[in-house]
Amino acid sequence: MAQPFFERVAVVGAGTMGNGIAQTFASFGTKVQLVDVNEEALKRGVGTIEKSLGRFVKKEKITENEAQGILANVEPTTRLEDVAGAALVVEAVVERMDVKRAVFSKLDEVTPAETILATNTSSISITEIAACTGRADRVIGMHFMNPVPLMTLVEVIRGQETSDATTRKVVDASTAIGKTPVEANDYPGFVSNRILMPMINEAVFCLMEGVATREAIDTVMKLGMNHPMGPLTLADLIGLDVCLDIMEVLHGGLGDSKYRPCPLLRRMVAAGRLGRKAGKGFYDYE
Ligand code: NAD
Repeated sequence: MAQPFFERVAVVGAGTMGNGIAQTFASFGTKVQLVDVNEEALKRGVGTIEKSLGRFVKKEKITENEAQGILANVEPTTRLEDVAGAALVVEAVVERMDVKRAVFSKLDEVTPAETILATNTSSISITEIAACTGRADRVIGMHFMNPVPLMTLVEVIRGQETSDATTRKVVDASTAIGKTPVEANDYPGFVSNRILMPMINEAVFCLMEGVATREAIDTVMKLGMNHPMGPLTLADLIGLDVCLDIMEVLHGGLGDSKYRPCPLLRRMVAAGRLGRKAGKGFYDYE
């Protein structure tokens, strides 16, 4: 295998996104420290990587030996101090500014000044996160898509102070792990959620106003626009609470009433109909 772009990276947060990001770097020969404060979450994260690699073996995309080698590249730890030797740290902890602030302040302390600190945030300002550190020029957004091992896009988001050198390195590192990086600037929702969420929100307005049934709305977008799934099905998959949070970020950050969350979306969240993860959203799941 060719030399990895970075010998050693760290991923903080071993949940849905973190374990996928760790697996992807490890698959390209990089040693990855996977950090989580929660021992159980860390075990689950490693277990998810194992299962995902098992599926690749079954599909004959990699051999059993290669899968073992990739897994051996992942070093789980609960100590943030252990990331000190990483050239790049990708943060993928919960989407809360207070938690991210604490993680970035600590990362700023424990890593050498040249380490690049990236965040996988879906909606929090990169500039605000960077301001928790003394190296805003080396803080950047690296927005992977779910499921990370399969989705090729990485939205690379430059904060106000992010340097050209940092951006170039992160773009090159993304390419080196088989992804297609796309650069964006730091405005609410970046590109992905700035366009996706208002579309989902508008679908919910259509449902609320009785323009069409949920099935009809999803079918129009699937068959008419060639989307792989309809917006209401997609909202259920993402989580209606996550969709609402991102609409609030767009509305607050851009201040335009066109981003107001649909009242039906609020009502669904209040009722606990959060989508697939809750067993019910716009559709019912068993
Ligand atoms: P998740 O809840 O599945 O995982 C978060 C993990 O972070 C948990 O295991 C938790 O124990 C851990 N954690 C919490 N505080 C920590 C700390 N201080 N130090 C170390 N670990 C800590 O969340 P997720 O869905 O993987 O999302 C992570 C980030 O990725 C969020 O910023 C989210 O907005 C973003 N994101 C999510 C998706 C998605 O589809 N889920 C897509 C793109 C981006």
